[in-house]
Amino acid sequence: MKLSKVFLYDEPSVPEIKTDRLGEFIKEKFCVEVEIRERFFDFFKEPTRKFSHDLATSRIFNPLTPFEKHIPTPEEIIFEESSFTNFTNTSNIVMYDGFEFKQIIANAIPQSESQSDMFHLICTDKLTCTYDYYDYRYHGRAVICSNPGIISTTGIIEAPAKPREYYLKMFENISQGLNLEVLKNQFKGKYLEYHDVKLSEIIKGYAMQALFYYLTGQPFCESKDCRLYNAHWQEDLLHSQIASNKLCDHHQKIMDEIIQIL
Ligand SMILES: [Zn+2]
Repeated sequence: MKLSKVFLYDEPSVPEIKTDRLGEFIKEKFCVEVEIRERFFDFFKEPTRKFSHDLATSRIFNPLTPFEKHIPTPEEIIFEESSFTNFTNTSNIVMYDGFEFKQIIANAIPQSESQSDMFHLICTDKLTCTYDYYDYRYHGRAVICSNPGIISTTGIIEAPAKPREYYLKMFENISQGLNLEVLKNQFKGKYLEYHDVKLSEIIKGYAMQALFYYLTGQPFCESKDCRLYNAHWQEDLLHSQIASNKLCDHHQKIMDEIIQIL
């Protein structure tokens, strides 16, 4: 697979992404031209009404059943429309089917930019989820590996689980009516919070996973020391992306080969 250009779309509600730096990182690692664009739904603003409608149809209301297209109410369409200008309130997280979300994005990309050597990477604060037939439920996802590739900042924060002790103490605190802020302070630094400055480094690893999948068909690595590790725990995510901060030898070799081909 030849790659000549990456289109990277910003998410202004999450300035911690530092899209410019992410673009530089992709350019440097993959030796490819990167064009940074504003938020996807702003860049392709023509069919805003259609985006709002289609996004509303991709919402998940029951995490235990596979996707069924939702028929949206006018209020739900207005909610989506307002999310383009008002930044999402994180206390009320809406779940979207990740593959439907990806398709809405794909449908809006013009033919002239849909060639296989062009890769579109969208950062969004919307929570993308996929249905898992192993346990028959939806799970939040930090990255949807496809072209266009989707990185969900809310997914990065919500999908990998916090430390087990956090949940045990949380249930203890809730049953005793204690303040959760105290608990958050106890575990500070062990998981990502909204608007965490570490997000700019973590997101580079997810961008690599999306690009690796497109170029090799294999996005993830088994090694926790590799940036392609598919972390299910926040501690592992912080380890692979911050403490280790590199590819394993095997994937570095593949990366070197990719750059030679490109
Ligand atoms: Zn690896």
